[in-house]
Amino acid sequence: MLSVGKRLFSTSGRILDTLVFVESANSKISPASLSSLNAAFQLGKPVSALVAGPEGESIVSELSQVEGLSKIIVAKGDNYNHYLAEELSPLVKAILSNESNNFTHFVTAASAVGKSLLPRVGALLDVQPISDVIKVESENTFVRPIYAGNALSTVKSSDKFILTSIRASAFPPQQITSSSAPIEEFSESITTNGRTEFVSENLITSERPELGAATKVVAGGRGLKNKETFDKLLEPLATKLNAAVGASRAAVDNGFCDNSLQIGQTGKIIAPELYIAIGISGAIQHLAGMKDSKTIVAINKDPESPIFNIADIGLVADLNDAVPELTEKL
Ligand SMILES: Cc1cc2nc3c(=O)[nH]c(=O)nc-3n(C[C@H](O)[C@H](O)[C@H](O)COP(=O)(O)OP(=O)(O)OC[C@H]3O[C@@H](n4cnc5c(N)ncnc54)[C@H](O)[C@@H]3O)c2cc1C
Repeated sequence: MLSVGKRLFSTSGRILDTLVFVESANSKISPASLSSLNAAFQLGKPVSALVAGPEGESIVSELSQVEGLSKIIVAKGDNYNHYLAEELSPLVKAILSNESNNFTHFVTAASAVGKSLLPRVGALLDVQPISDVIKVESENTFVRPIYAGNALSTVKSSDKFILTSIRASAFPPQQITSSSAPIEEFSESITTNGRTEFVSENLITSERPELGAATKVVAGGRGLKNKETFDKLLEPLATKLNAAVGASRAAVDNGFCDNSLQIGQTGKIIAPELYIAIGISGAIQHLAGMKDSKTIVAINKDPESPIFNIADIGLVADLNDAVPELTEKL
């Protein structure tokens, strides 16, 4: 590795630059994308951002204030609306494979969009992507959880392109300052198979903080017995704390709440400042989604429940008594 001025070169003489795919959420940079930018800067190379479609255009001015960005590439076009991975992946491939761009690294959040996009880009470039990164060791070495978070694997890539998705809860959001990155329009026409079209989406709207980004989460499990108790006990407590509401898979499967609230191996992975588990046993698949929370509080009537093994504060009590009392005292 050679360093000339501020540019980093590989031993083959290629300049090492990083491209980050940045998503919008309600016309703001999504919290997960701010974390992706932070992870990208940890690679120690110049970082550029890619935004696409009308959603992407809505965040260009905010993005231009991210300190240290080399440039923002804007790919206009209604075909990028709703971030269809089938449309985005040929775009990312075209930008990465254009040698004049000097990109060697690609970073996206391990969001629903990123999880769909990354393997497709990998297939198009014939490169093995590295998903769900929680730590950047060096420009080609990354740490990622395996076996539902029970082991950490350190992986090193020798591929021509290094394609990664990052777990947002493992990286702080990149700060917005007032610097101004140059904006470049991507105008090359890209051919896609055109066989995928957006039909509709049903979004659950809530006044509460978004589960993936909330600093406090109140989560309920099967112990709440039904939807009525779930809403009656959890909602007032979450309101008092200005917390997001989450759930175990058992609670979701039993119809206590929407499946977008599921936390765990097959749900959302979160790491809030405060996590309150109510009537949740602490199955390994649930822990995979919340064990990195800073302070874990558990309310469960069974003192042998495994959730108490990782709880910082445990209350052995009937949730029907303890939760209303806690809410009232708060
Ligand atoms: C491939 C796979 C993926 C999975 N992915 C996920 C995932 O992403 N997320 C997830 O959560 N699970 C996941 N699961 C399911 C997981 O194994 C558990 O079944 C689930 O987490 C259990 O949910 P629970 O803790 O709410 O229910 P239970 O395990 O039934 O626990 C209920 C708890 O409530 C307590 N309780 C009952 N009544 C009261 C009361 N009145 N007061 C106080 N406490 C009370 C009980 O003591 C018990 O500990 C997955 C499973 C598989 C096989």
